[in-house]
Amino acid sequence: MSSPELRPAPPAGPRWIELVEREPLGPRLVRLWFRGAALDAAAVWPGAHIKLFFPRPGRPRFELPRREATGVVWPAPERRPVARSYSLRAHDPVRDLIAVEMVLHQPAGPASAWAAAARPGARIGLAGPGGPRPLLAPAPAHLLAGDLSALPAIAAVLEALPAGVEARVFLEIETDAERIALPSAAAVDCRWLCRRPGDASPLPEAVAAAGPPGPRFSALVAGENAAVLALRRLLRVEWGLPKALCYAVPYWRIGADEERYHDERHAVMDSEP
Ligand SMILES: Cc1cc2nc3c(=O)[nH]c(=O)nc-3n(C[C@H](O)[C@H](O)[C@H](O)COP(=O)(O)OP(=O)(O)OC[C@H]3O[C@@H](n4cnc5c(N)ncnc54)[C@H](O)[C@@H]3O)c2cc1C
Repeated sequence: MSSPELRPAPPAGPRWIELVEREPLGPRLVRLWFRGAALDAAAVWPGAHIKLFFPRPGRPRFELPRREATGVVWPAPERRPVARSYSLRAHDPVRDLIAVEMVLHQPAGPASAWAAAARPGARIGLAGPGGPRPLLAPAPAHLLAGDLSALPAIAAVLEALPAGVEARVFLEIETDAERIALPSAAAVDCRWLCRRPGDASPLPEAVAAAGPPGPRFSALVAGENAAVLALRRLLRVEWGLPKALCYAVPYWRIGADEERYHDERHAVMDSEP
């Protein structure tokens, strides 16, 4: 994996969470607040990976997998949920709330369709958090690049950066209406790049043209498979960025749902340059 593993994540088994509030952030992004995650403030970090369990299309009733000493036990096929990875956007330990920001994409899948339709009171499953901690290795300068699926992780990481560091950010969107505020104590230079549906991602070219953000920097790159692989090659091979300073994770792939893409993602991560 191309990510710094500075501290292992504590294990947290699947449990139910309940939707309490919807907050539209733009035409294709919604922030969903859930209660019931029962997370310890010390066990979360900005942009941590979480696993969410959704109902299968046409099967609203489902059960959660159980973590047992022998491993994970999945429900029978007719009660099995769909599992998807998301980023922890915010955590309020006092009110036991977490926020997740989900892209409402077309074609939709079980997760995005659920996010588009779900109303307060609806329940899904949560496991985690997990993944690399921190997502972005400490450095005097940072490069963050991604599409709307990476925006929640990027926004969470920016919010936690200290004053005195620089962050150059490249975000791929479809229209200017998808821009959101990105509060940070760091000196942030944010470039929003519009991509028309069907066109290639503008991210690799824009990042290459801008050059490294400083002599010593770390990077967080996420989003669609092809753009992330091109950016990872630029950072690791052409610019020689060490693996420990480079989080580069493809979050999804055009034309493949997560069931088809999951194994390919792991192969792609293992084949890192
Ligand atoms: C570690 C990690 C963190 C992630 N964090 C977030 C997050 O915070 N917010 C978020 O929205 N996503 C995030 N993702 C991506 C999310 O898991 C995928 O987009 C997932 O495929 C969505 O599931 P689905 O059921 O909606 O679509 P699927 O059933 O997986 O796919 C259905 C169709 O939608 C397409 N598709 C999938 N995702 C997108 C997309 N983002 N834009 C356009 N088309 C798409 C597929 O190519 C396919 O054709 C993350 C992924 C990983 C691995």
